[in-house]
Amino acid sequence: MTTPTEQSTQHAPGLEALEARLRQDLAWLEIPAKSWLPAQHHEGQPVLEVAIIGGGMAGLTVATALKHLGIAAVVFDRSPAGYEGPWVTTARMETLRSPKQLTGPALGLPALTFRAWFEAQFGLQAWDELDKIPRTQWMDYLRWYRKVNHLQILNEHHVLQVIPRTDKLVELDIETPNGRNKVFARRVVIASGRDGLGRAHLPEIAYTLPRHLWAHSSDELDYNTLKGKRVGLVGAGASAMDSAATALEAGAASVDLLIRRTDLPRINKGKGSGNPGLTHGHLNLPDAWKWQIRHYINAQQVPPPHGSTLRVSKHANARFNFGCPLERIEVLGDGLRVHTPKGSFDFDFLILSTGFKIDWSARPEYALLAPHVRAWKDRFTAPEGQADQELADSPDLGPVFEFQEKHPGECVGLSRIHCFCYPAALTHGTVSGDIPAISDGAKRLAQGMASLFYSEDVEHHYAKIQAYEEPELFGDEWVPAPAPLPGKA
Ligand SMILES: Cc1cc2nc3c(=O)[nH]c(=O)nc-3n(C[C@H](O)[C@H](O)[C@H](O)COP(=O)(O)OP(=O)(O)OC[C@H]3O[C@@H](n4cnc5c(N)ncnc54)[C@H](O)[C@@H]3O)c2cc1C
Repeated sequence: MTTPTEQSTQHAPGLEALEARLRQDLAWLEIPAKSWLPAQHHEGQPVLEVAIIGGGMAGLTVATALKHLGIAAVVFDRSPAGYEGPWVTTARMETLRSPKQLTGPALGLPALTFRAWFEAQFGLQAWDELDKIPRTQWMDYLRWYRKVNHLQILNEHHVLQVIPRTDKLVELDIETPNGRNKVFARRVVIASGRDGLGRAHLPEIAYTLPRHLWAHSSDELDYNTLKGKRVGLVGAGASAMDSAATALEAGAASVDLLIRRTDLPRINKGKGSGNPGLTHGHLNLPDAWKWQIRHYINAQQVPPPHGSTLRVSKHANARFNFGCPLERIEVLGDGLRVHTPKGSFDFDFLILSTGFKIDWSARPEYALLAPHVRAWKDRFTAPEGQADQELADSPDLGPVFEFQEKHPGECVGLSRIHCFCYPAALTHGTVSGDIPAISDGAKRLAQGMASLFYSEDVEHHYAKIQAYEEPELFGDEWVPAPAPLPGKA
């Protein structure tokens, strides 16, 4: 007799078969292209064609898209192999927030999708029965993605400094397991995540509190230490629910959500905005429309997922306190008293789930670029009623996600550095962070880079065309007709 799991995997061809199919698909499509950039050396070492900072989903997708076009990228990530990004480190949701059928980093290849990977192992029935993708399984898929695309990823390599230069190279100073190393690349992609150009957004008051009494929801924290404690939680977004639920499941005595608004948003406008027009057309919208759309989505706020909210509300000791912005916080012994317009709350620990912000000062690795990067606020004035700090601080990028100089001529190497993380959204739309359109963004970046490399090296390519000598005809395929006799037609 077969068990339900056995029945469901009976029609699962397995990963080996999927990988064979992927190889076949790539062969049919003539992917990857042959390497075509001229080799370069500097200070006795090979110059990398592209260096990517960050081996999370965005970095992996760009590295693969570049490889398909015959451009070699080396990815540097400070995390241990297989632990890149938030999925098995700081994320606390049970499942992804996105629907399971999104094709994410697959770059248009059916055999590279999460669904293909899942069905290969567990079968179609299990796929039909799956509600949303379990968070840790998404990480397993990314680990497989990295393996089957044969990407060059150097883990435990922390990029300490990105140095734009005037000689068409970018230098990286990297802390490696074997000490400090210097590498040179023709172009660099910053794929360093949701907080890639900044940090957790914290209310000023947090900095005055003893550090052992609070955490941001994106901090690494053992939630078992909250057992028996009265926990306050500022915020009501997806991560707030994940943190609240994790604290409750770890045995917190109570969790009070302090919610500034008088109600939770119900509609995810960001999800509703997604269509191929936005993916491919946002970049070319007039500035005022870009701003208006992004500001509207920001102002409406994204509701926490249904399942994540139920994961909290099913606990009797979870309380949703609306209309409770922070007014003041007192330290009382080894706890905190939080004052709000609705009254005061005593907590043993406070979690701030207050999002992320662009703050170059929090990213010392970009200290040499930061003063030169043109932000939207440097050339665009928000229309009346649409002030938005996140948008104002967003980098004003070029069509290949490249940074642009605030004062032309002051940092000429800056445009060799490409921003492929969430802050690119105001210029490019949401194609550089979230799952839905990550392949579109990665292809845009890879194709744009191919074009930049080609025009930069045009003399080399022209010389190659001139030197190209592979004959199509050998001269023996025909016999020249004799000259016609005079008077004969
Ligand atoms: C909790 C959480 C849940 C999310 N859930 C969803 C979801 O369900 N659906 C969805 O579409 N999106 C979701 N997102 C948004 C987005 O998909 C994720 O943030 C995703 O991880 C973005 O991928 P990334 O490659 O841009 O960044 P990351 O996955 O964060 O990868 C960035 C990498 O850069 C490395 N790095 C950073 N700085 C350096 C440096 N100086 N040197 C070397 N390495 C460096 C880091 O180690 C990290 O591995 C979620 C985000 C979070 C935070």
